[in-house]
Amino acid sequence: MGPSAQAIAAYDPVQARAMDREDIRNFRSWHKAAAHRARQAGFDLIYVYASHGLTLPMHFLSRRYNQRTDEYGGTLENRTRLLRELIEDTKDAVGGSCAVPVRLCVDELMGPEGICAEEEGREIIEMLAELPDLWDVTVSDWSNDSMPSRFGEEAGQEKYVSFVKQVTSKPVVGVGRFTSPDAMVRQIRKGILDMIGAARPSIADPFLPRKIEEGRLDDIRECIGCNICVASDMTYTPIRCTQNPTMGEEWRRGWHPEIIPPKENADRILVVGGGPAGLECAVALGKRGYDVTLAEGSEELGGRVTRESRLPGLSAWGRVRDYRLGQLSKLANVDVYLVSRMTAEDVLRAEVDRVVLATGASWRRDGVARYHRLPMRRLDDAAVFTPEDVIAGRTIRGPVIVFDDDHYYMGGVVAEMLRRQGLEVTIVTPAPLVSQWTVNTMEQPRIQARLLELGVAVLANHGLVEFGGGEAKLACVFTRRCTTLPAASVVMVTSRVPHNELYHQLTASAAHVQDVGIKSVDCIGDCLAPGTIAAAVFSGHHYAREFDRPRDDAVAFQREIAELGTWSPAGKSSS
Ligand code: ADP
Ligand code: SF4
Repeated sequence: MGPSAQAIAAYDPVQARAMDREDIRNFRSWHKAAAHRARQAGFDLIYVYASHGLTLPMHFLSRRYNQRTDEYGGTLENRTRLLRELIEDTKDAVGGSCAVPVRLCVDELMGPEGICAEEEGREIIEMLAELPDLWDVTVSDWSNDSMPSRFGEEAGQEKYVSFVKQVTSKPVVGVGRFTSPDAMVRQIRKGILDMIGAARPSIADPFLPRKIEEGRLDDIRECIGCNICVASDMTYTPIRCTQNPTMGEEWRRGWHPEIIPPKENADRILVVGGGPAGLECAVALGKRGYDVTLAEGSEELGGRVTRESRLPGLSAWGRVRDYRLGQLSKLANVDVYLVSRMTAEDVLRAEVDRVVLATGASWRRDGVARYHRLPMRRLDDAAVFTPEDVIAGRTIRGPVIVFDDDHYYMGGVVAEMLRRQGLEVTIVTPAPLVSQWTVNTMEQPRIQARLLELGVAVLANHGLVEFGGGEAKLACVFTRRCTTLPAASVVMVTSRVPHNELYHQLTASAAHVQDVGIKSVDCIGDCLAPGTIAAAVFSGHHYAREFDRPRDDAVAFQREIAELGTWSPAGKSSS
């Protein structure tokens, strides 16, 4: 159902049917019944929601979706009718005992075609100014609201919502990936908001308000705006957060975001590698009270996070390292050694009880990933580069082809960086879209738009077949028909090889390892299986929390056992 008979927004072969008056009456009564149930369930605030392009009230407000000619369509007043009725219904139903806030999209960031803060967004609030108990104002759609840090700054919604407090006396709350207490205070002092909304920042750190209150600003795990949390929603998988590895595991595994159980024994633990996995592991082990040695081969900590935060738009990635460095500085039981590349002999001499290898991974040069499962045969190795080469500033000659068979952010970022250096760049991908997987982090349309605006040529649905002699041969993934493009260099953004040599050397001499008293050697993070930064942090935390737990055959986490109630003709379910 919808305000008008229209195709739905996704590509499913489905159309909405236009609601008649009875549908609207039914919808209002369902909404009212839902409010009653919510109160029964114990909620204190029961929202009426007209935002994110998601709900009927928002679709009725919208000129694009609402082409009705009755009292619910046409003028803005008519289009606002359903929202007004729902607010009144909800207040009628639960207003005595619950607050009834309204979440409203004040701008869809598409100019006059959508709701626009300067026109209809403002007029809607003026019309309903004193009706809700609280105005929760935002921009739509969700990708504009939960803007990835690569494309928008903290407090990015300020310019759209700043008028709201001038037209209502009701309190106003808003969001904007607020992680810095200063930015929050500024919103209140400038009279833009009365309350700070924080969804992603409180996923990254559920104790954000408490830490501000106690003046523990260094302890805040700041959201990096990567939208990995959103990706879990999009892919219907358990939620993960790059900064907060306990997210979604509070009940399942009993992981409290701030409290970690004390150590179980006196094991001394060596962590090799100070990327996100090794840093998180060392911090969490340190907080448990274990004696930890963290050995990092290079001159700086942070591993891939430090490297990648130098790429265009990714500076916020550095927060993954910074938070953990701050925590390490408070842990006297964790010793950190830089420029300490460990060999198997070094590990055996380290006088520790357990060894954790967080030695990372590096990008392949041979094209192997999804399109090629075996190394490419015709490849001019001398002119093939990896993302690490690009970050290190190696000289790359144009025209350059970025072959992206990784499909997350790296291919797009590398193409952007090379183009900004003035090179002629073509990004070639076997997927239909550039950085295909970033549809899940809501970055994809912006990535593709940015590349096109910068003048990067995009060749989708193509694989790189050969490269040499100043040209690249490319094949259509459907027809296999080949084309050639001039290319002086190729950057392979394909897949990564885990650095697990140390692991294999140590496990190959298991007897020797045992002789020196080492009880276990484990890999974590990218060295175990290359993945997202979130996966590396999770892996490090997982080891630190659970390595000393008894291992049995039981499932390692609690499961909800869902049970269907029985249905009776009276419409009452028995459970
Ligand atoms: P992850 O994402 O799993 O944390 P990274 O690649 O970000 O992996 O980090 C791995 C870190 O391990 C890098 O900083 C690298 O310098 C370091 N490293 C790799 N091999 C060794 C080694 N043998 N000894 C010490 N440090 C190492
Ligand atoms: Fe922030 Fe990324 Fe965590 Fe989401 S996953 S809360 S965007 S750090």
